[in-house]
Amino acid sequence: VRVLLAIVPLLAGVVLALLAGLRRSAPRAVPTGPLDRVGERPRVVVVGGGFGGLSAALGLARSSADLDLVLVDRNNYHLFTPLLYQVAVGVVDSKSITYPLRAIAHRNGFRFLLADVEAVDTEARRLQTSVGSLAYDYLVLALGSVTNFYGLSEVAARAFPLKTVADAEAIRSAVIASLEQADVEADPDQRRRLLTFPIVGGGPTGLELAGALSALLSDVSGREYPGVSESEAHVEVLEAMDTVLAGWAPDTQTRAVERLREQGVKFHFRSGLRGVAGSDYVVGAEEERLAADLLVWAAGVRGNPLVEQLPGDRTRDNRLRVDASLRLPADARVSVIGDCAAFVPEGAERPLPATAPVAIQQGAAVARNILHAVRGEAAEPFEYRHPGNLVALGRHRAAAEIGRFHFDGWPAWLIWRAIHLSWLMGLRNRLQVLLDWSVLYLGPRQTEWLQSTAWPARFRRHPARDAATPPDSASTDEAA
Ligand SMILES: Cc1cc2nc3c(=O)[nH]c(=O)nc-3n(C[C@H](O)[C@H](O)[C@H](O)COP(=O)(O)OP(=O)(O)OC[C@H]3O[C@@H](n4cnc5c(N)ncnc54)[C@H](O)[C@@H]3O)c2cc1C
Repeated sequence: VRVLLAIVPLLAGVVLALLAGLRRSAPRAVPTGPLDRVGERPRVVVVGGGFGGLSAALGLARSSADLDLVLVDRNNYHLFTPLLYQVAVGVVDSKSITYPLRAIAHRNGFRFLLADVEAVDTEARRLQTSVGSLAYDYLVLALGSVTNFYGLSEVAARAFPLKTVADAEAIRSAVIASLEQADVEADPDQRRRLLTFPIVGGGPTGLELAGALSALLSDVSGREYPGVSESEAHVEVLEAMDTVLAGWAPDTQTRAVERLREQGVKFHFRSGLRGVAGSDYVVGAEEERLAADLLVWAAGVRGNPLVEQLPGDRTRDNRLRVDASLRLPADARVSVIGDCAAFVPEGAERPLPATAPVAIQQGAAVARNILHAVRGEAAEPFEYRHPGNLVALGRHRAAAEIGRFHFDGWPAWLIWRAIHLSWLMGLRNRLQVLLDWSVLYLGPRQTEWLQSTAWPARFRRHPARDAATPPDSASTDEAA
């Protein structure tokens, strides 16, 4: 059964991945010239090479318009966030979920600039970046979001967010560090602290991590870690509301909890994290104490702080309010999309959620509207088409809502895998992820600690680890 589980999806995936790879087109010439002033061709600057920015840049690059297109990002790779949690549990390698932005730019004939955008001057139509000034005629801001700790600064200093590659690798190191310590720890209180893994937030990210972490713990307890029993090491989900997956269908919400409970995950509802007391966390209205070394925070995001520099209204979670065509009401040359934009569909009360399909569709829409603007045509209003909801729920389980149809268990798990594989960028990444998924049934997990991976700075107690940890090696994305 294990061999079949490994080989059948692998073969099917290899065929799919090869077919997808065949669509690759020939590289186009990339424009050059000064960046601090615009030339004869309209200059479009897209900031952010995530889901939204990339969709906008590709929409523009694949048109026949003669544009001077520049994509700017502080990282030179696109990150496929939906599989980040699998990096945190040692299922896939971080290299398999990143894709070089320069290769995309080269293939599609636009410029890529590795730079941190520090300031936006909409009057002068100019960006201040870490590598100099960048002029634009049209600007697309797809800056994404940062972890939202809702003002709980002590929690922010100690908890582990899951937003970047560094975050995922830090969680993986910290899980292994806890298991290593627990394997030789005699004190029962200390063991409980080491082997309780709370995850704050019952959204899709929290639940996917909960299922995968629970599977990891049950795989290695009593085996690689003979001093840790399966009943001791467990995951607890803390959710402030009385249900998980807010906004999803009630049957999916109930089944998600059932599936994860079957795999040993514990749930605490109406249990928002309030703060920190000594080395414990404080939970819920009753202010209960929770002793845990490794707490993962997956309870929400807020718009990138850079949007605070732009004119216009922002929501409480720091997303810029945009008009019906995703432009700033005060400046039609600036479009804002994805996690940092608050677009409220007609007749709705709340903005669209911060998800990849929203960002991708908005990217394609602003590309069309910039082409309209260049040709002197009117902008189209944005219309979102919801493709459905998907969440992985641990070993061979998932839930999928596609239109009126709701799937659960194995069928949903296969849909989940097929869709994520088709979304992933690059043939090499698809094959690598497939191989990682398949090998999981046959070989051990990646629980080794490589010397090149620093232990998280927030997780120091082991003298050998302290000596190996360079200062401030933890992720700083939320502080940015
Ligand atoms: C762990 C995790 C799992 C997720 N799983 C799913 C899922 O399964 N399905 C789903 O639909 N959504 C998922 N999401 C949400 C999804 O990733 C986001 O909604 C989506 O990435 C938003 O796209 P975006 O283009 O707005 O921002 P991003 O994709 O975050 O891209 C923003 C880009 O801007 C760059 N940037 C930021 N600031 C600057 C600056 N000052 N200068 C230069 N560059 C800058 C960043 O480096 C980044 O490349 C997940 C998110 C996380 C964190």
